[in-house]
Amino acid sequence: MSRSRMRLAAVYLLVIGVILYGAGLGMLGLLMRSNWSALEREVETLAGTLHDSLKPLLPAEAKPSPQLAAVLPGLCLVGSPCQPAPSLIPRHAVSITDPERFYLRLLDPSGGLIAHSPGSPRAKAERPGPAWTVVAGPGGERFLQYSIHLHRSHTPADPGANALEMDWGYLQIGRSLSGLDAERQRLWWATQTIVVLALVVAGLASWWLSGLAMRPLLAAYRQQEQFTGDAAHELRAPLANLLAVVEAHRTKPPADAVARDQMLAAVQGQGQRLSRLISDLLLLARLDGPEAGAAMQSCSLTQIACDLLEETSEAASIAEVQLRLQSGDDDLNVLGVESELYRLVSNLLLNAIQYTPSGGEVLLSLRREGNLGLLQVQDSGMGITPADQQRIFDRFFRSDPGRSRRQGGTGLGLSIVAAIIRRHRGEIIVASKPGSGSVFTVKLPMATTPAPPSGSTACPH
Ligand code: ADP
Repeated sequence: MSRSRMRLAAVYLLVIGVILYGAGLGMLGLLMRSNWSALEREVETLAGTLHDSLKPLLPAEAKPSPQLAAVLPGLCLVGSPCQPAPSLIPRHAVSITDPERFYLRLLDPSGGLIAHSPGSPRAKAERPGPAWTVVAGPGGERFLQYSIHLHRSHTPADPGANALEMDWGYLQIGRSLSGLDAERQRLWWATQTIVVLALVVAGLASWWLSGLAMRPLLAAYRQQEQFTGDAAHELRAPLANLLAVVEAHRTKPPADAVARDQMLAAVQGQGQRLSRLISDLLLLARLDGPEAGAAMQSCSLTQIACDLLEETSEAASIAEVQLRLQSGDDDLNVLGVESELYRLVSNLLLNAIQYTPSGGEVLLSLRREGNLGLLQVQDSGMGITPADQQRIFDRFFRSDPGRSRRQGGTGLGLSIVAAIIRRHRGEIIVASKPGSGSVFTVKLPMATTPAPPSGSTACPH
């Protein structure tokens, strides 16, 4: 059992772990995605501002020249040694003066490098590809690079004509990703630590939860084990008696017909006990199984009670117990399976007769209470102690095993009653006082349609 608990806890932990880890990675991804978008917006805005401020200042030709150097102080022109940046930097370059984080590159229309920031990553002369690329810088540092077309505004000589926009080359802005990468690393480790700590807690919770889940299974398993043991014991007794009689017959055959008849009667009695026990066990197994059986329909509880009163009248007169029925004029129709309802009422009635001493009385009453049909079996018998009242519905429980066996009881009668009531979504209540009788009250849901007419005889009230 503890191996099963361990396996269940491991499955719980695995499921919780996968969910936690997935959620952690998802959160990390979302956070990084939003940081990345903010970075893209920042670079895009910067590129737009630079483009607009450079447009009117760019020289006519896209090649390294003193005019270009004047427009972009601080950038190194290709083919000339890099000049140190002047202390007073013109406005358009102010935004990207942080050489730690940004670099700038100017390319001619064919993709050839014209000018670049001093520390910018070296790139081969090529046509700028997609707008966004990630470029590896010196020392492995990564940069997010954005490329846009650079235009130059040209004012025609004719004063009435509109200013023209002409393709000039390309502007590339790189933004260092070192901050973002460090942040990603930090968050990654934070996620791992949190997930590992959460998994430790989840492991403890899984162990506790698996114990909780196993409890009813363990109880059901023990109950089943007890039931199998009891059933085997109950079956063994009549079988042993039967075999003993047969063995006696074989070793010392009965001398006369009377002795033979006695022997046969004993074999038959034990055989019948076995047969009763087996059919009760089979019925219980069927009642406990999935609810396939017969369909529920409207059944007349009044008719069932009348039929059973007649059937048990002989047993009652043998036991010298008076049987009475108390019911209203109307038929009490409940929703159920007729054969099972017959069995339910019969078990209660036979028990009442069996556990009532001679001269006593058994009263079967029927009435309606709201949308429930009430059937009550009241006897003036020996009663049941409060401790036993908790256990009489357990399989094979008997207050007085000897008496029950002598009278042919299997110890399964009330378990069958309880199983039938469970299937009918009803309820059974026991009220009893030792020495002054018992009352078994059964509540069953009423049917909305009348029961089909039966061929049974009218009921004597
Ligand atoms: P069985 O009657 O075959 O022993 P049941 O399951 O029908 O088995 O009943 C279980 C036990 O409940 C009985 O052995 C008896 O002790 C007790 N019992 C049931 N009905 C009554 C009753 N009407 N009065 C007193 N005791 C009862």
